[in-house]
Amino acid sequence: MPTEPKDAYQIDDLKDWENATSDLEPPARLAVFGAPVIHSRSPQMHNPALVEGGRNCQYVRLHIEPGDLRNALNLLKEKDFIGTNVTIPHKGEVYAAMDELTEVAKLTHSVNTVLVDDGKLIGHNTDAPGLEQAIREEFSVDLSDLRVMVLGAGGGAGRAACVQAAMDRSERLVLVNRTFEKANALKKELEPIYSKSERLQGPVDRLAVIPHETPYLERELEHVDLIINATSLGMKASDPILIPPHLLQPHHLIFDMVYAPPQTRLMRDAVKAGARSANGLSMLLWQGAFAYEFWFNEEPPVDAMRKGLKDSFN
Ligand code: NAP
Repeated sequence: MPTEPKDAYQIDDLKDWENATSDLEPPARLAVFGAPVIHSRSPQMHNPALVEGGRNCQYVRLHIEPGDLRNALNLLKEKDFIGTNVTIPHKGEVYAAMDELTEVAKLTHSVNTVLVDDGKLIGHNTDAPGLEQAIREEFSVDLSDLRVMVLGAGGGAGRAACVQAAMDRSERLVLVNRTFEKANALKKELEPIYSKSERLQGPVDRLAVIPHETPYLERELEHVDLIINATSLGMKASDPILIPPHLLQPHHLIFDMVYAPPQTRLMRDAVKAGARSANGLSMLLWQGAFAYEFWFNEEPPVDAMRKGLKDSFN
């Protein structure tokens, strides 16, 4: 009689995967690695897609501590996995452990999706195209047509957002980070991408970097359309304010990568200012959809994933 998968498997389970999952039908051949991982909604999003796509496998959570990561990645090959997603705190370390990387992974220096292909581990980053598609879906406009500001440009998700905006030749890109040096280093990396573009025009620099401080924000917010929150702030009511509310304007589009709570302080302030806002759920959906496409080289069943994700909140 098939049983339900555990809420989260451990490294010892992975070492003895055949026994640990002998009751599972279909077999578990996809997973998310994280620490903690128990709150990941990826199984609820991916399993309906696997059913819809007629794939005879299922997706589970694996709690992997940083010290076990290399071993866990090697075990993926031995245990006949199709691939894995990786979340906090593994995205950087996984990057260094791959046999091959996609172009997006190389640019973002981070991997959230791994494909096991002929004994090789291939690393990809679907946060970047996931964000691009989420912006299109939420605001009916392409990243390329927007003047973009990224708060938290020095973090992992912020870097992915900046790389995608640069690859799309967004009209403008303003990198904002508490630790200025990190964003400034990223700006230097992105300069060659922007210098290839011929559309640099207007009164302000097309590619700019500022510290996360009010006087600098005030100056730049006049000249951006889309504001992306990629900082780790916004989940708790006690978090510091990201942008003083009086600086938000009706023409702004606010995309907050946070999705729990579904409406953050920044989003509420945006609505009060007459601006439009969206949370990060659509990005979560699309990074998952692009992971499915990477694993199976097939169009993802997005409607099934969207429904699975929505149901996971009920
Ligand atoms: P991370 O690498 O730890 O980066 C955190 C960023 O937040 C850094 O830029 C950091 O600045 C900044 N920050 C932290 N505390 C701050 C403060 N008090 N004031 C100003 N800036 C501060 O984290 P991450 O992995 O990029 O994740 C960032 C957020 O994106 C998280 O909420 C995560 O859940 C979300 N995310 C969502 C999706 C999705 O699908 N919706 C996907 C990926 C990530 P310093 O450089 O100065 O430390």
